[in-house]
Amino acid sequence: KEYLSTQRSCTTCPYCGVGCGVTINKEKRQSTSVISVTGDKQHPSNFGRLCVKGSALGETLGEHGRLLRPHLHGEACDWDTAMSYVADEFARNIHEHGPNSVAFYLSGQLLTEDYYVANKLMKGFIGSANIDTNSRLCMSSAVAGYKRALGADAVPCCYEDLEEADLIVLIGSNAAWTHPILFQRMQAGKAKIVVVDPRASATSEMADLHLAINPGSDAALFNGLLNFLAQHNRLNHHYIQHHTQGFELALEAAQHWSLQQTALSCGVPAEKLLAFFRLFAETEKTLSFYSQGVNQSSSGTDKNNTIINCHLATGRIGQIGAGPFSITGQPNAMGGREVGGLANMLAAHMEFKESDIDRVRRFWDAPNMALAPGLKAVDMFHAVETGQIKAIWIMATNPAVSMPEAERVTEALRKCPLVIVSDCIADTDTARCADVLLPATGWGEKNGTVTNAERRISRQRTFIDPTGEARHDWQAICDLASRLGFREQFNFTHPADIFREHAQLSGFENNGSRAFDISLFSNIAQNEYDTLEPVQWPVNRENPQGSARLFGNGKFFTETGRANFIAVKPRTPQQQISPSYPLWLNSGRIRDQWHTMTRTGRARKLLDHSEIAEIQINPRDARKYGIDEGVLVELHSAQGKMCGRAVLNSGQKPGELFAPIHWSQTLAQESKVSALAGAEVDPISGQPEFKQVPVQLKAL
Ligand code: SF4
Repeated sequence: KEYLSTQRSCTTCPYCGVGCGVTINKEKRQSTSVISVTGDKQHPSNFGRLCVKGSALGETLGEHGRLLRPHLHGEACDWDTAMSYVADEFARNIHEHGPNSVAFYLSGQLLTEDYYVANKLMKGFIGSANIDTNSRLCMSSAVAGYKRALGADAVPCCYEDLEEADLIVLIGSNAAWTHPILFQRMQAGKAKIVVVDPRASATSEMADLHLAINPGSDAALFNGLLNFLAQHNRLNHHYIQHHTQGFELALEAAQHWSLQQTALSCGVPAEKLLAFFRLFAETEKTLSFYSQGVNQSSSGTDKNNTIINCHLATGRIGQIGAGPFSITGQPNAMGGREVGGLANMLAAHMEFKESDIDRVRRFWDAPNMALAPGLKAVDMFHAVETGQIKAIWIMATNPAVSMPEAERVTEALRKCPLVIVSDCIADTDTARCADVLLPATGWGEKNGTVTNAERRISRQRTFIDPTGEARHDWQAICDLASRLGFREQFNFTHPADIFREHAQLSGFENNGSRAFDISLFSNIAQNEYDTLEPVQWPVNRENPQGSARLFGNGKFFTETGRANFIAVKPRTPQQQISPSYPLWLNSGRIRDQWHTMTRTGRARKLLDHSEIAEIQINPRDARKYGIDEGVLVELHSAQGKMCGRAVLNSGQKPGELFAPIHWSQTLAQESKVSALAGAEVDPISGQPEFKQVPVQLKAL
């Protein structure tokens, strides 16, 4: 296989958590090089398929809109000037106000190697755990749910299960648009499909059964299912007895949820609910596939656990075609977790407990090891607002658009004494708040690894030269480390060096006690790294070819080796609709755009589907509020407002709206959906409640 040559290279799509393999073909036509992008037929995640975003990747390349040079206080400068300033200010703040006065805010767009050095610098050498990531906004409740139940942030399933399952239950996921290649794999399989989602979507159109539950009622639904399984003798008592603990309490919490009570709370007819419960009860190969609709909630961790409870109660975990499968949103959300990119984790899935802190300290020979978790994303930006954080380095993400209370976050950044923004794009809402702008390499220029939703590590490979003076993020971080006096520990010259150290740490004093283990790569040579085939972790002596599924042996990473049932008392969204804000706003991705559109907005083909933010409104609500199809409307919440174009859609339930997350402006009006969301978060995971926001609707 040709991985990298002047004509052809294999890399990975930088958009969603599916992590599709991409083949790049370069052709010389007259004096220019023409790049075409196709699916990599040999990549085991997509076997040659690409969705519309992946197919348009070639259109997003080029200098247009790129940040070409470093800038200091609005003036172009060289790297040395910019980094001297950053290092001096970091050193001064750390000296005068302590290590917690500085922070890094990262992104699931970064490569694992970028993430690794950022985490090492902040947690081992600066001495703070103030390093968090936009992954907090999309999958941190899934991490917390897995850790509570399984003892590790370890996805038990793989994509092959989509074809092997007989029943797939999609919960809070519009996979046909958000994870299209996985949806195609489901359709190619034989499974019946049940969709649990408050609104009709491209996914529910293809489903055998659609449960349009009330916003936020997922935990009631799965408590009801657990109760039904117990009442109808559909539990796997042998599995519960030998491989789990805490079942009685979980069942006691679920027993309140009779079929009628669950139907009432979920707003779904009892006969539809019964059809779902029977399907689940009778189908051994059942896969639950869940995403942001479950996670983006102030009770997201509990919701995750009610789903996992049902799989543990039936012993359907780690088996072919069966398991609770959380699907990550971003291309490297999982890679970030592996290196400790969340404020409450250490590298290689270790925790902030004495033995792990000591282990990481010894491995890194770290002089200033962080001893306690840092601030999670929402708290981090509040600390910027109060002045507790005086310097923040934001990499590859646009929190001025994507954070809840986006306007408040923007204002906090404007007032912050030092905001450093590394991005490949010149003009973003966040870049406008920056004191220092650093040009980062983009897709096609970067070189490293990402981990997709099935734990598969794939290579992103360089196939074009850096644009302008762009540098890799890991190089910029190592530069800062060196200027802060840690040259020796950050003396990496190639991403393979970083990956090798990351692999060594994953195996360091790991005698099977930690799930994340890629120690087989501890001595990987650069040429082996360059030709690394996609592989699913753990990859160690016991699993040299990687591991498709986990927990098939009924052994878990808890202290007892048993999986934990979690007793859940369902909670409603923290903000409730009221006469002032009488409608529920749901939000999410659309098919053709990605995040805040800084890249996909460059592709004409992708804008053709929809150029401005569209607010989906039930026709009955439209009549009630005097709104015609196509007019501009404004949504107000207790936190902020946004503008969009009205689209009448009977797939929206009356009283519920849907808006896309991508736009920051619509026809010169503010259009950030996250400006409407409040700062309410899940108490365990810190994930914000984006999916249920009370709003008011009016024509503009
Ligand atoms: Fe890229 Fe996701 Fe589309 Fe695959 S499904 S091509 S990873 S955006």
